Amino acid sequence: MRIDIDGSMLEGGGQILRLSIALSAVSGVPLRIYNIRAKRSNPGLRPQHLTAIKAVAELVGAKVEGLRVGSRELIFTPGRPRGGRFYFDVGTAGATTLVLQSLLPASAFSPKRVMVEVKGGTNNPMAPPIDYVQRLLLPILAKMNYHCQVSLLRRGFYPRGGGVVRAVMEPVDKLRTISMLKPGKVVKITGIAYSCKLPGHIVERMAKSAEKALTEAGYGDVEIEHEVLQPEHPKCSLDPGCGILLRAETNEGALLGADSLGERGKPAEKVGLEAAQSLIKQLSSGASIDRYMGDQLIVYMALADGKSEVRVSELTLHALTCMEVVKILLGVTVEVEGGLGKTSNILCRGVGLRRKMEES
Ligand code: AMP
Repeated sequence: MRIDIDGSMLEGGGQILRLSIALSAVSGVPLRIYNIRAKRSNPGLRPQHLTAIKAVAELVGAKVEGLRVGSRELIFTPGRPRGGRFYFDVGTAGATTLVLQSLLPASAFSPKRVMVEVKGGTNNPMAPPIDYVQRLLLPILAKMNYHCQVSLLRRGFYPRGGGVVRAVMEPVDKLRTISMLKPGKVVKITGIAYSCKLPGHIVERMAKSAEKALTEAGYGDVEIEHEVLQPEHPKCSLDPGCGILLRAETNEGALLGADSLGERGKPAEKVGLEAAQSLIKQLSSGASIDRYMGDQLIVYMALADGKSEVRVSELTLHALTCMEVVKILLGVTVEVEGGLGKTSNILCRGVGLRRKMEES
């Protein structure tokens, strides 16, 4: 039976779409989504969403109606998951990491390894930086026994994008539950300050100001990599850009990230300071995962085999939206101890989805 999803509910953005499609792909349940991105100023499908849907559709041989830029309604009828190699191009600077946000869960139960290359933006506002996927999301997914590798072949910034990421997903028979309630003591803060087509001092200054703020806040062991790319380097983007990502790990296995992107007219020191302040604030909340991981993990917790529990620095509307989607599509009720905007425990008994081995 087909399930209908109202794309305007709660957060009303692209994530309802990406998550619903991924869940439809793994569960085999057909889907109609209407009011797509109704709460955005440019409603309907954008190139990045289109690419995510096409990618998942190709992965599971789905039939899709309504697949065009601006479309506000979509019917997605999944076929059988398969493995193999795929290539997708967003065609704009749209975030490759948001395409991966659909593809990673959609590939988790494929009968064979999935390898994808995605072209577009790698470091965009309002999306996970590729460095966050590599350093935060994948290590947490590995705890759930889902092992993926993401390589950055070229950075891509607004306006032209052109970045390339390569992801290799090793499917699982079932996903292990996760328990990340205890914050613990910070043992190390690592990170990366990166720039393309900009003078080397930008990276130095972003890293220094982050290090200074973290040290002043009492975090002693801070190690930030410097990546300065110029056009002769194959990883250098088409357009100039820069940013910083920080990652804190604790003796209890908590993992929290924070980042900031450079902008024209924004001093490098401010970029570094913003990321550091965000990390310090989240660490002081006594959480084990950061505010963005809160929404990104729910799909995996809902699919895992048993009870998962995480403590998030701030419960966002994105997270509440993901909870609603897993309730509608999987019948999973997620409990929250806390509330919107607060440090909260997220508790979820997953459905324990199993991989079916037959190839299409
Ligand atoms: P949407 O606004 O519906 O397109 O969803 C945006 C997605 O990007 C959500 O999963 C957010 O958690 C994620 N996101 C946005 N900004 C960041 C960031 N700075 N770091 C990590 N994830 C992010």
